Parts: sequence; structure tokens; C-alpha cells
Amino acid sequence: MANHGEKRWRLVLTASPLQGHMTPMLHLATFLHSKGFSITIAHSNLNPPDPSSHPGFTFVPLNDMSTVNTDFAGAGQFLKTLNDNCRPYFKEHLVDIMNAQKDAACEKETIVIIHDNLMSFAASVAGDLGLPAIILRTSSASTFPAMKIIPSLIQEGRFPVEDSMLQEIVQELHPLRYKDLPFINLPIQHALEVINMIIPKTPPVAILWNTLEFLEPSALAQIRDHYKVPIFTVGPLHKIIPAPSTSFYEEDTSCISWLDKQAPKSVIYVSLGSIAKVDDKVLTEMAWGLANSNQPFLWVVRPGSVKGFEWIEFLPEGLVHEMKLRGLIVKWAPQKEVLAHNAVGGFWSHCGWNSTLESMFEGVPMVCQPFELDQKINSRYLSCVWKMGLEIVVERKEIEGVIRRVLVGKEGEEMRQRGMEIKEKIRVAISHGGSSNNSLNEVVDFILSL
Ligand code: UDP
Repeated sequence: MANHGEKRWRLVLTASPLQGHMTPMLHLATFLHSKGFSITIAHSNLNPPDPSSHPGFTFVPLNDMSTVNTDFAGAGQFLKTLNDNCRPYFKEHLVDIMNAQKDAACEKETIVIIHDNLMSFAASVAGDLGLPAIILRTSSASTFPAMKIIPSLIQEGRFPVEDSMLQEIVQELHPLRYKDLPFINLPIQHALEVINMIIPKTPPVAILWNTLEFLEPSALAQIRDHYKVPIFTVGPLHKIIPAPSTSFYEEDTSCISWLDKQAPKSVIYVSLGSIAKVDDKVLTEMAWGLANSNQPFLWVVRPGSVKGFEWIEFLPEGLVHEMKLRGLIVKWAPQKEVLAHNAVGGFWSHCGWNSTLESMFEGVPMVCQPFELDQKINSRYLSCVWKMGLEIVVERKEIEGVIRRVLVGKEGEEMRQRGMEIKEKIRVAISHGGSSNNSLNEVVDFILSL
């Protein structure tokens, strides 16, 4: 389909080295490849994708020596280093392709850049070389109005706010409270730097957003009004097309046979994603809460995710023994498979956007423990708008109660019902004639029109 007569297309996709960004980008690449486009993946050499899983793609490593900074105060510096490091290699690669195409013997291809919004260097290189650039956004759309408003809140003296105001609703962003705003704990200058990087001044030719029309209509309307370029809602990308595993870590599949032995909807699955770090006191409260809830649990504790420790060696032996009686602790799980398992009745999550979409797709109610960025926004929407999540304070008694409310209480039953309604709407959206399915077909036509 991507060959119109003599014309051929090469899509250069620029993925960011974060799990929650790489996965949707590779799903998108797999879809576009299935439509006949040639695919190049330009990637940092930090957390590189595995070329053997995608034999049809060309991979271009961009020599980047940055390391993922999980301290949000350092997010601006991390993004700056990542972008500065990758830019020259990316430009050199594109110039090489373009020069080669001047050779009459070489096959001519129309080059289109599709980049992760954190990899903004790709847009500036595209601008330098006169190539069209499309952005893939992998966070919720509701993050956009919450970030866009921050510069004017700063001017009005409403950001950051006194602690006493944190629980108050930001009128323009109802139902978000000041405490739900991204970067509320960052110095103003840092917050503005990151916002400038994430919300580009020069609009791309189009934006693909890993969300669904019915989930975030008001945010999408604001985004369309702001950018005035086509906005394609293509989510959830992980369900659009099967793609090989893109996991940075080895998945412990033994948890699936453990789940097979548990009663339907009885297990709470706990995972805080691929980046978040907690301190040992928080993890200990989580452990006690899980142990005291008397419910079976599957808990992912990523090695290195507890500050100052390798794994869970600091938990008291008696507590670990107690926990093993009714739960399983693993280092990394095949999350999508876990959420699809009939034994799972709830997902205690940091509310990263991929985890949120994956849980929604399976209709699994959530316990929300957000850290930063869009996680706080997603958490608020899950509890107040989509009504399939409960926000949690990490304290053992509270945890114990919330787990029971989700797994065995009436509230949990209602959230599960709501989750099933959302699941059905997503199924319709990705089916033939549904909004996400149509959007993806429009993306193909749009690229062919460039
Ligand atoms: N994930 C996984 N196994 C785990 C924990 C997480 O496969 O044990 C995957 C999860 O399915 C999701 C991604 O890691 O696709 C996390 O992305 P998300 O946007 O939820 O959060 P982030 O890691 O970016 O904070």
C-alpha cells in the first residue's frame, strides 16, 4: 500500500529510551510496516530495542551516553543531555540517506520522521533538512491542558502554591487539584524548561496520540484548538497489532502458572512501572499492607527500585515468610498477560499511561499510587471521571482496607462493572469502523499524502 507507482516511503521513527515510550513506538512501527512502509528505528544506545525481534526494520543507534534519571528534579537535565547527545548522529544519518538518494542508481524514498515527543531534537533536525515531522505522544491527552496552563499560573502567582491550597481544585482544569499538577515540587525554572521541551513551539505536521476519543474528549478538543494540525487518536497501541515483546527486563513467566491456581478475581497485582523509585520505608508499608490484607497478591519489585538497596533484602524475615504464604514477589512480570488473567481482580499501580490503558483494556479496577508527571492526572481521572480507581495513601492500615474494598467490597464490584464498560468501548474503538481503527487508517493516508 505504501508504494504509489514509483514512490516509496521510509519512516524514520525515533524512540525514547524509556519502557513506556519504546513499547508504543514499536507497536506503531509494526503497524506501519504491515502497511508496506519501510521502517528505520533511530534509538539511543541506552535501553536499545532488540533488532532480532524486528527483522524487517533497520536500526540506527544514536551514540548517547546519558543514563536514565529517575529523580524528577533532574528530568530537565536528562532530557537535555539525551537530546544534545543524539542530535548530531541523527542528522548525520539523515544527511547520508539524502546524499545517497542523489545518486541516480539509488532507490528514491520520501522520508518522514515520526518521533517521541521527548526526542525533540528529531523535529529540529527535520526542520533543518526540510523533512516532515510527526509526533507520537505516549502520555494521556489530559496532561496537555495541565502543562499548558502552568506558565500562566506562574504569572498569576498560582504556581507553585502554599501547602494549604494543594487540595483545592484548579478551576480551569476541573477535577484536577493543585496537587495533581505536574512539576508542582520543582523550581519554576526547571518546570518551564521541561514544559518547553514537551510542548513544542513549532507545530509538527501531525500528532499521533496513544489515547481514545471517548476517554479524553475535552483535552483532545483543546489540543486540536492549540495545534491546528491533524491529531490522530490511535490508542491503545498495544492492542492495535501484535508485536514481539519490547521488554527491557526479563519477564518472570512463572507468575502465570501461579495465577492459574488462584480463585477468579481474587488477586491484587502490584507494579509501579519501569522508572519510579521508592524508599525502603514506603516499600515496607506496602509489604505490611499486602500481608495484612489476607488477599493473594502478585507483586513486582524491580531490582534497584528501592533507593539504596538491590532488591527486598531489608524486609524482616518474618514478614517475608508471612507474605510467601499468600503471595508471589517477582522482579518483572509479563504485565499485559497478568492483567488479562481471570484471577486478577485489581491492579495497584503508579498510573503510568501504558499501565492505565492496559488495565482499562482488561476492565481491571485500579488502586492508584501516582508519583509525578501524568501519573497524578491519570490517577485523578481514574478515581473521579472514569470511576475505576481508588487513590491510596501508602500506610499499612489504609492499604489493607483499600485492597479489600477493591477485591471483595461493593465498591470494587461497581468499579469492575465500570471497567467492563470501558473495556467494551475500547473494543469497539479498535474494531473495524471504530475511532482508533479509523484514525490509524487515516494516518496511513496522511503519510501517503506527504
Ligand atoms: N511492565 C511490564 N512488566 C512489569 C512492569 C511493567 O511489562 O513487571 C510494562 C507495562 O506493561 C507497561 C510499561 O512496563 O507497558 C510501563 O509503562 P507505564 O507507562 O505504565 O509506566 P512507566 O514505566 O513509563 O513509568
